[in-house]
Amino acid sequence: MKVCKFGGTSMADAAQVSKSCDIILSDSERRVVVVSAPGKRDKTDTKVTDLLITCAREKLAGNSGEKELRRIVERYALIQRDLDLPEKVLADIKHDLQLCMESDKSSHAAYLDRMKAAGEDNCAKLVAAEFQKRGCKARYLNPREAGLLLTAQHGSAQLLPESYDNLAKIADYDGITVFPGFFGYTPEGQVVTFSRGGSDVTGAILAAAIKANVYENFTDVNFVYAADPKIVPNTEPIPEMTYREMRELSYAGFKVLHDEAIIPAIRNGVPICIKNTNAPDEPGTMIVLNRETTAGRVVGIAHNKGFCTISMSKYLMNREIGFGRKLLQIIEDEGLSFEHLPSGIDTLSIVLREDGMDEETEKRILDRIKIELGADANIEHGLALIMIAGEGMRYVVGVAAKATKALADAGVNIEMMDQGASEISMMFGVKGEDSEQAVRSLYASFFPWRK
Ligand code: ASP
Repeated sequence: MKVCKFGGTSMADAAQVSKSCDIILSDSERRVVVVSAPGKRDKTDTKVTDLLITCAREKLAGNSGEKELRRIVERYALIQRDLDLPEKVLADIKHDLQLCMESDKSSHAAYLDRMKAAGEDNCAKLVAAEFQKRGCKARYLNPREAGLLLTAQHGSAQLLPESYDNLAKIADYDGITVFPGFFGYTPEGQVVTFSRGGSDVTGAILAAAIKANVYENFTDVNFVYAADPKIVPNTEPIPEMTYREMRELSYAGFKVLHDEAIIPAIRNGVPICIKNTNAPDEPGTMIVLNRETTAGRVVGIAHNKGFCTISMSKYLMNREIGFGRKLLQIIEDEGLSFEHLPSGIDTLSIVLREDGMDEETEKRILDRIKIELGADANIEHGLALIMIAGEGMRYVVGVAAKATKALADAGVNIEMMDQGASEISMMFGVKGEDSEQAVRSLYASFFPWRK
């Protein structure tokens, strides 16, 4: 059996939904379909998830949200009409959206998650109706009924492992199961979502649970590319990569697959195939446990902006037992997770995502470091992380030299360097404005044949 996930652009309008259904019906092994909410139809369009977030915020601010709701309903109405689906399908979607909108607002986070989840939930109902219209045996399956249980972390939930046994039963159904991505339920029955882009995670969980022979992730590109094609034209496509390479690169900015989607796939060794809904005959990129590698070969270069660094210094920091623990306690008290922690003898830096910081949080952290740890501390904003990754990197010396030379030749100053213990990736911190130049220069150095 194959689990197929279709992203927002594959659900954006009736033609795309129809194409996605054709893909499913062209292969009898494709029996479980995970869908995103309708995404952008063109560059200027807005994703349904973003419309839902705006609508929820309006409601929480005490406004009617009616204008926003109309825009959302209109997106589903267009698809329903153009696919010629029964009026009842749209009436049910409208009713569901209205119920969500008027639901309990005592917890803003819980309300926001209920609204966001409605995007994929109603899209799945629509897709199931399309299969039924075509005379296929198909069902819409709600994550609660299926037993997809998650932690109560709104907007960034994690899977509860007992879900796997519950979800394994999906394989018993002899028709097509259409499952909404992006959300599940807490054991108490509250809707919770993964972080943005989380339908990829749902697909991977289902694929692991039913021990699928492949998890096909349909999106709008033919391959995963070695660097962002918007920065590097004529970028090298990647035919095959390992889970570890993809996890490193998606963490560092490859948007094609959610970095947390790799973990469930590893669990049962389900290969992931990234494919294009608009070119389904292209082989796509296979993501697997092991592959043959060439020594020294870098598979991809990723970049991600939006980080900041808190740097601190104190003489004899290296001798001070417990300094690191106390620092991390301060970060934990703020509910933040840290990304990297490069250290020197008397210095330590901590790299954090900027979206979790605001002026007050920043001030509290810096004050506590100064007062409680007795260290000098300052914060620098606008850091970008550049990651090069490849299984073959650990077999040769000189990869770091080659990368740093490329950056130096391009006039990019390296603010920070970190090589993970796995030795399959290397990370450079550079100023945000230098990040594209950094990617281009590294690409030219590691992929000289693509000039
Ligand atoms: N619709 C959600 C988002 O835009 C989840 C997803 O598409 O995977 O983040």
